[in-house]
Amino acid sequence: MRFATNLTDKEYVSRRAWNTVSAPPCPWCKPGTCELAPHGFYPRVKPQGAWIRRFICRTVKRTVSLLPDCFAAWVQGTLEEQEEPVRVAERAATQAAAVEQVRPPGECSLASAQRWLQRRMRWVGVLLVAVKGLYPERFTGVEPTLAGFGQQLGSETVLRTLREVAEAQLGNLPAPVGFRRVSVTLRTGPRAATKQASGLSPPPGSG
Ligand SMILES: [Zn+2]
Repeated sequence: MRFATNLTDKEYVSRRAWNTVSAPPCPWCKPGTCELAPHGFYPRVKPQGAWIRRFICRTVKRTVSLLPDCFAAWVQGTLEEQEEPVRVAERAATQAAAVEQVRPPGECSLASAQRWLQRRMRWVGVLLVAVKGLYPERFTGVEPTLAGFGQQLGSETVLRTLREVAEAQLGNLPAPVGFRRVSVTLRTGPRAATKQASGLSPPPGSG
């Protein structure tokens, strides 16, 4: 579920904002019949020191995580970090030029940098088309690009703005904005998944 916040990822960590998240309404039970209980935290791989608040429904025995708006879903880092390379690619004369410009540190071969960028372009493309389908009245005639959506939304951080605009549909929208996993190629961090299962607490004084 979404934790609506204006904080940046750094502010989220420095303020230990996971401690300020209160329980949302239970997504499974009838309104007023269930109160979610705190159920620990799990760590984000990036940025270091970031924890995500979890709650549990004792009736259906399922947990929810409250992902703050600064973070991408099912992939490391922030929504802005996902958006930036795709913006560069939209503006670049050729994809090769874009790859040179956004080549991430650690992605040393040109081929892998190309795949890295193409993956992000695909995620964003699929997402924007899905948003158009879910909100036809708002996005009819809008090109499914960051530039097109940015103009329509009056926003330079389209992905983050869509978390808010499409809040009711986040369960149906693909990552990194929505909470549906798009494919197994998304890096989820097996370590994080294991820790999530055991419901850790952040160490006191961390962050
Ligand atoms: Zn419940």
